[in-house]
Amino acid sequence: KFISFEGPDGAGKTSVLREIIQRLTVAYGDQLLVTREPGGAHNPVAEAIRDVVLSPDYPAMDNKTEALLYAASRREHIQQTIKPALAQDKLVLSDRYVDSSIAYQGAGREIGFEVVLTLNQFAIEDFWPDRTIFLDVRPEIGLQRIQEQRQDEINRLDLDSLEFHQRVYAGYQKLIQINPARFIVINGEQPLPQVVEDTWQAMKKEI
Ligand code: C5P
Ligand code: MG
Repeated sequence: KFISFEGPDGAGKTSVLREIIQRLTVAYGDQLLVTREPGGAHNPVAEAIRDVVLSPDYPAMDNKTEALLYAASRREHIQQTIKPALAQDKLVLSDRYVDSSIAYQGAGREIGFEVVLTLNQFAIEDFWPDRTIFLDVRPEIGLQRIQEQRQDEINRLDLDSLEFHQRVYAGYQKLIQINPARFIVINGEQPLPQVVEDTWQAMKKEI
């Protein structure tokens, strides 16, 4: 089974996943594969592309170049990491997947929702997660959390305006609307223990 985790910046994805992974590891041990995008577990090519796309050294990268790099990294992630793990019957959890590209590059960077979806179809060949857990936090709240908690991320995210994050959020809302059966929406604006609990209850139904 392949489950992806999505959410806007500051949604608490990292904190929630840490807790969920701890709980799952008890039951699954090495039958659990935790991976992430951009990049991927045990995937040097995808991680090398991650270093390029997220590096502050390249602040002026062309939007379409960025979208292509994400798609290339994703292709490698699927072929070398996700599919081999599923073939061994593992539970695969990915911190972000193709929805992130549609929301960030498609909606956020305004390349276009459909254009980025089409670009990614070449990379994913219709390989979608069984379920996608979306941590729902409005962009104003997410950015406020980051400003309070993560000085290191502010420099990079400062380059992206609130309007950018609002477009990303709207992109996610559209994805949820189009794929109601795949998405599980968790209210991420609750206190962290409650978000973890809701996510855990949702996960338990899936595994
Ligand atoms: O750790 P996290 O998943 O939040 O960080 C990845 C970062 O990469 C995000 O902050 C997001 O801004 C960016 N990203 C992106 N496009 C994607 C995936 C991630 O811009 N497709
Ligand atoms: Mg983040």
